[in-house]
Amino acid sequence: MRNTLWDAVGDTPLLRIASLSQRTGCELFGKAEFMNPGGSIKDRAAKGMIRDAEAKGLLKPGATIVEGTAGNTGIGLAVLGIERGYRVVVTMPDNQAREKYEYLESMGVDVRKVPVVPFANPAHFFHQARALAETNGWWWANQFENVANGDFHSETTGKEIWEQTEGRVDVLVASTGTGGTLGGVSRYLKEKNPALEVVLLDPHGSGLFCHFTEGKIEGSGSSITEGIGIMRLTENFKRARIDAALRVSDQEMIEMLYHLARTDALVVGTSAALNVRGAYEVAKKYQGSGKRIVTFLCDHGSRYASKVFNAEFLASKGLVERPLP
Ligand code: PMP
Repeated sequence: MRNTLWDAVGDTPLLRIASLSQRTGCELFGKAEFMNPGGSIKDRAAKGMIRDAEAKGLLKPGATIVEGTAGNTGIGLAVLGIERGYRVVVTMPDNQAREKYEYLESMGVDVRKVPVVPFANPAHFFHQARALAETNGWWWANQFENVANGDFHSETTGKEIWEQTEGRVDVLVASTGTGGTLGGVSRYLKEKNPALEVVLLDPHGSGLFCHFTEGKIEGSGSSITEGIGIMRLTENFKRARIDAALRVSDQEMIEMLYHLARTDALVVGTSAALNVRGAYEVAKKYQGSGKRIVTFLCDHGSRYASKVFNAEFLASKGLVERPLP
């Protein structure tokens, strides 16, 4: 029985993306993570980290949870934390889609917006969350370095994909934020099938593509995607097993976002659209092979409607809606 939000995390469908499978002669699948109770893949990280902290005695009844987040981890911690009697405080960069602040505020979460600054600046949301924890004696989830995040993905996301594909998965394609998803899932699936190919996707402005190809963390430009891209190596990411890396532009991401919405009725967020675009590029390379390519539909497009379905916003970023090539 799944009669709590806690128990409703995971066991998401693995959806076959019909239009792209047909175009490429491969089998493209998206793990429907927007169907988690808080609406994103980060509900898994939240559950894994809360479970671990409770088991270690770090989180006691009535405690306050604090986290630095692009929004989804905060939503996951709130959805599960409130149900378990915790108070939740989040620090968030101030340039995220307003829908995420609104969701958090609707649950009574204390949202502290901070300016977008480089990681070295103490005003960065990561350092601000740690400082609040230290000052107030709150529990800091620390999704970037806390490997209970990636461990939970091995245990659930990886295992589910293996079972849902009946052990027939050829390529795993994913962008990364904390590295929890990619670290956990790539580790689990490679153990099951060492021949699995893992492709890291990276938006502009993130340093991981360059890290993989040239060994240095560098990234130019920027991206409107939220929750992915990073300029440092986290403990969760260090566990990832990666064979290839691909950069995906915002324009390519937007083309896929509209294609999925209009052709497959899959209205997904920016990281999911970027993931599927990457999976599609890989599928074109393997045209006609029937290879099974799996990626993540991290959250729902409604969470970004004020941006991605807003013509003025797109124009301001030089992005155009045009058919998928
Ligand atoms: N997509 C979205 C929408 C997210 O919020 C996040 C988490 N920041 C990710 C992808 C990346 O997941 P992970 O942190 O597991 O790398």
